[in-house]
Amino acid sequence: MMNEKDDDRLMEFVEEDSTMRAVKENKLVWRVLIIDDDNDVHSATTFALRSTEVVGRTLEFLHASSAREAKQLMSENKDIAVILLDVVMETPNAGLDLVPVIRDELKMKDTRIILRTGQPNQAPEIQVIRDYDINDYKLKSELTQSRLFASLSTAIRSYKQIQAIEAGTKSLGMIVKSSAALLSQQGIDEFAKGIIGHLCSLLSSPAEGLICIRQSANSNSNIIAATGQFLPFMHQSLMQLNDNKAQNCLLECLDSRKNSFNRQGLALYLGSEKRGDMACYVRSETEFDEVDESLLELFCSNIIICADNIELVAQLSEYAYYDMLSGLPNRNALVEEIDNTINAKKLSDEVLCMVDIDNFAEINASLGQVYGDDLLRAVGQRMRRQFPEPCMVARVAGDTFAVFGPSQCISQQKLLDAFEHAFNIENERQIISVTAGIVPISEVIGGGDEAIKDTTIVLKTAKNHSRGEVLLFRHNMVKDAQGRLSMLRHLRSAFELDQLFLVYQPKLRLHDLAVTGFESLVRWRDQHGNDIPPETFIPLAEQSGLIVRLGAWIFQESVKSLVEFHKHGWVDCHMSINLSVAQLQHSEILQLLRSTVANIGIHPKFINLEITESLAITDLESTLKLLFDIKKMGFSLSLDDFGTGYSSLNYLQKMPIDYLKLDKSLIDASHTKNGRDVVDMIINLAEKLGMEVVAEGVENGGQIEFLKSLHCTHAQGFYYAKPMEKSVLFQWMQNNENKNIP
Ligand code: C2E
Ligand code: CA
Ligand code: CA
Repeated sequence: MMNEKDDDRLMEFVEEDSTMRAVKENKLVWRVLIIDDDNDVHSATTFALRSTEVVGRTLEFLHASSAREAKQLMSENKDIAVILLDVVMETPNAGLDLVPVIRDELKMKDTRIILRTGQPNQAPEIQVIRDYDINDYKLKSELTQSRLFASLSTAIRSYKQIQAIEAGTKSLGMIVKSSAALLSQQGIDEFAKGIIGHLCSLLSSPAEGLICIRQSANSNSNIIAATGQFLPFMHQSLMQLNDNKAQNCLLECLDSRKNSFNRQGLALYLGSEKRGDMACYVRSETEFDEVDESLLELFCSNIIICADNIELVAQLSEYAYYDMLSGLPNRNALVEEIDNTINAKKLSDEVLCMVDIDNFAEINASLGQVYGDDLLRAVGQRMRRQFPEPCMVARVAGDTFAVFGPSQCISQQKLLDAFEHAFNIENERQIISVTAGIVPISEVIGGGDEAIKDTTIVLKTAKNHSRGEVLLFRHNMVKDAQGRLSMLRHLRSAFELDQLFLVYQPKLRLHDLAVTGFESLVRWRDQHGNDIPPETFIPLAEQSGLIVRLGAWIFQESVKSLVEFHKHGWVDCHMSINLSVAQLQHSEILQLLRSTVANIGIHPKFINLEITESLAITDLESTLKLLFDIKKMGFSLSLDDFGTGYSSLNYLQKMPIDYLKLDKSLIDASHTKNGRDVVDMIINLAEKLGMEVVAEGVENGGQIEFLKSLHCTHAQGFYYAKPMEKSVLFQWMQNNENKNIP
C-alpha cells in the first residue's frame, strides 16, 4: 500500500473531491483498487475519476504498487468492487499471476477485474480472460477519462448485479436456472411452452397457461403456446378463448405493455420492439406482494433476453446454411445433407457433382463484380431448374456449384445441356462453359466433407486436363492427389526444419578441363535417410507456390557458397542456379536477385541463372523484358534442358542467353548417326548466335571425344563429377587441381 508520503502528490488532486468527503461522511461507496507500479497511473486514474458517481455511490480508491502489497490489501478488504490491474509490474506477468490469487486463494469471485497494460503485445491469452472471469482489458493509452469511466461503471454495475443475485432468494436462483434451461431450447415453440412451465413452478401453481403474440397494435393476437386446460386453443386467435378472465388479463397486459394481475392469474409482458407484443398468462391464485413483483420483473427481463437470443440463433442458422448471393444452400447445408443421406441409408446410389465456371475470374475482372454476381445468380437458378427435387443444388464456393442426388437424375449430358444456351445478363448474351467432376458417394470414405474434397480433386483434375468437360471419378485421382498433398506437407516441414540442403556439380571447360563453375542442386533427405529426388518435389513446390520461398533460400545459399569458393582461391568460378518458371513470374524476382547479391557482396557476373524454355511460351514479350532486365543487372543466363521441349528457335534468337545446356537425352543419343547430327546442328546454331554450349549428363569418354570434335565448349556430368556436398567438393577440387592444372 502506498504510505502517507507517497500519497502526498496524489492528495493534491483528490484532497477536496467527493470521494474523500464520502469516505469521511461514512456514505456508501464503491471500493476500487488500483494495482500499478507506476505512481503516475495512480494519480492519473484517481484524477480522471474524481467526483465520479456510479449507480448512486461515489468511489473510494485503494492503492497498491506491487503484487505483494495488493494481496495484503485485498485480504483486509474483501468488498472491493473493481480492481484496475497492471499486467506488467515486478515481472512481466506479476499482474496476471495475481488473478488466480484473487479468484482462488482470496475467493473474491464477485470483484470485477480490469486488466491494463502498456503494450498491445502484453495482452493475456483469451483463455485466461475466460477462466478467471476478467471483465475488461485495456491499453493504458486507451484509458482516457471517458473510456475509463465507461469501463469502470460497466464493471461496477456488473458487480452490483452479481451481488444482488448472490444475496438473492431461492426464487432468484430459480429464475437464473430457468433462463438457462430456456436458452437451450431449440425453436420458439418449445421455448414458449418452457416459459409457461417455469413461470408456473416459480409461482408454485399448476401448469396451466398460454402465451400470445400480437405483431402490431391493430392486428390479431394469436396463441402460440398453451398448456393444461388451454391446450385446445393452441394456434387460435385470443378472441376465440372461452375464458374471459384470462382473455381480459392478457388484453390489458398487451395494451398497457405492463404486467397485469387479477384474482385468478397474472399476465407477464414479454414484448420487444423486434418481436412485437407478447404476453404469458398463467392461472394462479397466489397473492402477490411487492417482492414477488420485482422477482417477476426480473423473470420477464430474463425471458426477453432469452427470446432475443433464440431469435438470434435461428437467424444465425439461416446464415449458416444459406448462401446470401444465390439464395441456394451453402457448403454447410450440403455437407449436412450428404451426411444425413449416408447415415439414413446403407447403400446409396447418390452422386455428388461439382461444377465450376470456366474463366469466371476473367469475366468478373473484365465485366465487373455486379455482372459477375448476376451471372452467379443466373447459373444457380439454371442449375436449380435443371436439377429439381430430390436433387440438392448448392453453391459451395466462389464460382463452384454442386448438385447432389440420385445418379439417374445427374448425368454428364444433362449438365452440359444446362449451359448450352446463353445467359442474359444486363441485356448481354453471355455464353459460358463449365467443367465438372462427379463422384459416386459410395466411393467416398467418410462423410459430406470428404465427398466435397474428393469431388474437388476430380474437378481440379478436369480443369487441368480438359476444360469444358465433365470428368468422372477415378480412384487414382484422389490417391495421387492425396499422395501429393501429404508429400507437400512433408516438404513444407522439411524446409522449416532445415532438412533440405544443396549439392554442387562442377562444370568444366573442355579444352583445358578447368572448372569454370558449379551448378547448385537441391537435395531432400527425409528423417529415414531416404533421398527424395528433386524431380518429384520441385514440381510440387512449383504447384503450391512454395517454390518462391524455397527458391529464394536456394538462391541465397548458393551465392553464399560461391563466396566461400572464391575465398578458397577458385576466384573465376561462377555459380549456376536453377530458377523455376513460377519463381521468375513472381513479382519480386528482380528485387530478390538484386538484394541478395548486394547483401552478400558479390558481383552478379559470377551468377548464372538457369531457366527453361517453357518460360518463353507463357508470354514471350514479358519474358523477354524480364530476361533483359536480369542481364542488365549483370547476371548471365543459361537455357536449361535444351533440345527436350519446345523447338523455339525463333525465341532463341531473341533471348539474351549466354549458355545453351544440351540435355542429357541428346548426349545419350549421340551414339547414333541421327543423334550426332542433331547435336552437331545445335552446336553450330549456338555458335552463330554467340552462345556457348554446355553438354549435360556426360557419362563416358566417348561422349567427350565426340563433343570435343564438335567444338562444344563445356561439359558437366558424372564422368567428371557427381553433384557433391560442400566438404566433398573441397576434397574433389583439390585432387582435380593436382590432376589437371599443370
Ligand atoms: P537439371 O537442372 O537439368 O539438373 C541436372 C540434373 O542432371 C541433376 O539432377 C544432376 O544430378 C543430373 N546429372 C548431372 N550429371 C549427370 C550424369 O552424368 N548422369 C546422370 N544420370 N545425371 C546427371 P537432379 O539434381 O536430380 O535434378 C533434377 C532436376 O531437378 C534438375 O534438372 C532441375 O530441373 C531440378 N532441380 C534440382 N535442383 C533444383 C533447384 O535448386 N532449383 C530448381 N528450381 N530446380 C532444381
Ligand atoms: Ca539446371
Ligand atoms: Ca538440365
